[in-house]
Amino acid sequence: MKDAPLPSQIDVRKLVVKGIEIDAKTPVSDLPHFVSLLANDEGVVDISLQFYKDEERFKRIDGQVKTTVNVSCQRCLEPMPVSVDSQFELAIVWSEEESERLPKALDPLIVGEELTDLRSVVSEELVLSLPFVSYHEAGDCQQAVGYSSVDTDAFEEAVADNEKENPFNVLQQLKKEP
Ligand SMILES: [Zn+2]
Repeated sequence: MKDAPLPSQIDVRKLVVKGIEIDAKTPVSDLPHFVSLLANDEGVVDISLQFYKDEERFKRIDGQVKTTVNVSCQRCLEPMPVSVDSQFELAIVWSEEESERLPKALDPLIVGEELTDLRSVVSEELVLSLPFVSYHEAGDCQQAVGYSSVDTDAFEEAVADNEKENPFNVLQQLKKEP
């Protein structure tokens, strides 16, 4: 299947039995959880998925997701591009219990009798691949570095320094002594 839309209701075990490969391009706007973490819904995700049974008879979905999306800079809150290129190896299991028996290299995809929305599988992988926080390079940022209102670490450090050097604190300490 070349560049077909990503199926939203499908029996993934059947895809494994048939040894299907899917190549798809999905707009970011079609991946609800992922898009909710972005600055806007611009971008298309290149997706390739392989369904097969491996030598140890695990039902596998190996995949790759590639895209460039816009996230919000945590300093100035303006959009900035971030590239994601991530590979994953999933094993389809029936239950939490079964997932505990998987080798460490495989992540479980717990699927009961219900059909699977491959868009949500891909969406979750993309969410895990996003950097936790993103900042523009100093020169590109709308907010001058070091004077940020959202850079709470720097702010707390400044407060801590200030307290150390405040002579009033020293006086209070002296007062407490008997
Ligand atoms: Zn910025």
